[in-house]
Amino acid sequence: MEASICPIDAQFSGQISTLLSPPPLPQVQEYFEALVAERQCSGLRVKPDSEHGKGVYSEVDFQEGDLVLKDQMLVGAQHSSNKIDCLVCSFCFRFIGSIELQIGRKLYLEVLGVSAVDECGSSNEMRCSSSSGKTRLPQDTIQSLMNGSLRLPCSENFPLPSVVPCVGGCEEAYYCSKTCAEADWDSFHSLLCTGHGSLSPNTEALLKFMKHANETNDIFILAAKVISFTILRYRKLKAANVEQQEKRYTSKPCNSCIFPLLLEAWKPVSMGFKRRWWDCIALPEDVDSCDEAEFRMQIKDLAFESLQLLKEAIYDEECAQLFSLDIYGHIIGMFELNNLDLVVASPVEDYFLYIDDLPPSQKKEAEKITKPFLDALGEDYSISCQGTAFFPLQSCMNHSCIPNAKAFKREEDRDGQATIVALRPILKEEEITISYIDEDLPYEERQELLADYGFRCKCPRCTEEGP
Ligand SMILES: [Zn+2]
Ligand SMILES: [Zn+2]
Ligand SMILES: [Zn+2]
Repeated sequence: MEASICPIDAQFSGQISTLLSPPPLPQVQEYFEALVAERQCSGLRVKPDSEHGKGVYSEVDFQEGDLVLKDQMLVGAQHSSNKIDCLVCSFCFRFIGSIELQIGRKLYLEVLGVSAVDECGSSNEMRCSSSSGKTRLPQDTIQSLMNGSLRLPCSENFPLPSVVPCVGGCEEAYYCSKTCAEADWDSFHSLLCTGHGSLSPNTEALLKFMKHANETNDIFILAAKVISFTILRYRKLKAANVEQQEKRYTSKPCNSCIFPLLLEAWKPVSMGFKRRWWDCIALPEDVDSCDEAEFRMQIKDLAFESLQLLKEAIYDEECAQLFSLDIYGHIIGMFELNNLDLVVASPVEDYFLYIDDLPPSQKKEAEKITKPFLDALGEDYSISCQGTAFFPLQSCMNHSCIPNAKAFKREEDRDGQATIVALRPILKEEEITISYIDEDLPYEERQELLADYGFRCKCPRCTEEGP
C-alpha cells in the first residue's frame, strides 16, 4: 500500500461528500411536491426558508380540529423494550392478532422475563403475588388466551387483523396483511431478516448486530433500516437501468457509472439528515462539561462498533460508501435531531374501558372473567406501541411555542402514520408550526430543551418573553 492517497480513495471520499451535501434546491422542491401529491394533503407546500432551512406552509384555510397532514414514515421501528408489551405489524405498526393474543403474549413474555430472578411462580401455581405487586395467572390459562381457545367477553367488538408471519421465516417480524409483509420485505426487511430466506449473506453477524443494538441503543436498528432501504432501492434502480441499456455494460459496471444510481437511491434520506450523531447529541446531565470531548468520542466509538457488525452482515461492495462512519453518523443524527415519536394507541385499553362501561348486570358477568387478567397485567395494562420514526413532511415543520398545529392521533388513526391537526384556524399562506417540546414550560426551560434540537427559539412568544 502506498502512503499517498490513491486516486480510487480520493474518488471514494469525494463520493461520500457528495452523498452528504445537501441536494440542489430544485430537486428538493420537486421531491416535496411529489410527496405532498402522494399524501393527498394538497393543502400544503414545503418552502425553503433562510432561517430554518425549510418550512411547511398552508395553501388553504384550515379550521380548528381539521386534519392538516397524514404523513407516511420513511422508516420507523418499535422500541425493542416495547415489543413485550404489544404485537404490531412491523410495517404499518397496527396492532394485530386479537385482544386475547395481545394480553396473553404480554403476560407470557413478562413471566419469561422475570422467572430468572423471581422463583415464586411455578408453572401451575394459582395467582401467586409477584414482586411487582401484580397477580400471576397459571401458565395454561395464559396459553389458552394465546392459542385462541379462551375467548374474552365482547372481544369480538375489537377485531384485529390476523397475524401474517415473515416470508423469510425469522419469527421476529409479523404483519397485518400480505401487502405489508411484501412491502416491508421489498423496502427493508429482506436484508435484515434473520430467517432462512434472508438476503443477508451472514445472518449470524446480523444477530450479533441486533444484540449489540438492543444492548446499547436501538436507534442503530433504524440506521440499519435506512442503509438496507438504500441498498435495496439501488438494486432496483440498477436492475431497471441494466435492462434499459443491456448492451452498454459489457463487463462489470464501473464505479463512476453506478454512483449516480446510488445517489438517486439515497435521495429520500438526503432530504432528512443534518448533522453527525456524536456532534449533535445533547450532553447527558450526569456528564460534566469538561468531559464532553471524551463523551463524544465514546459515542463515536459506539457507532463504529455497531457499523462494523452491520458491515459483516449486509455489506454490498457497490454501495460501499454507505458503510462509512461519516454516513452512519449522519443517519443516526437524523433521528436524534428530528426526534419523531411513533405512537399507536392500544386496543387493549379500549377493550377494558368498554367492559367498564357495560350496564351493571352485564359488567358483573364480564368482569368475573376479565378481572383476573386486568389484575395480572397491573397498572401498565394498556401500554401503547412506541418507537421512533422519520416522517419526511412532519420533520419539515418548524417549532413554535405558540404552535397552530399539533401531532394528534384521532380515534380512527390506528397505524404508525403521523397525523397533524390544526389547533386553531390557519389561514392560507401561513406557516404551519408544531411544538417540539412542552410549550407550557417557562421561557428558560423551553430554550434549554430546544438547544437539543440545535436552535434558540425566536417565535413571537419567545420574542416577547425573552430578555
Ligand atoms: Zn401492516
Ligand atoms: Zn424476517
Ligand atoms: Zn418560542
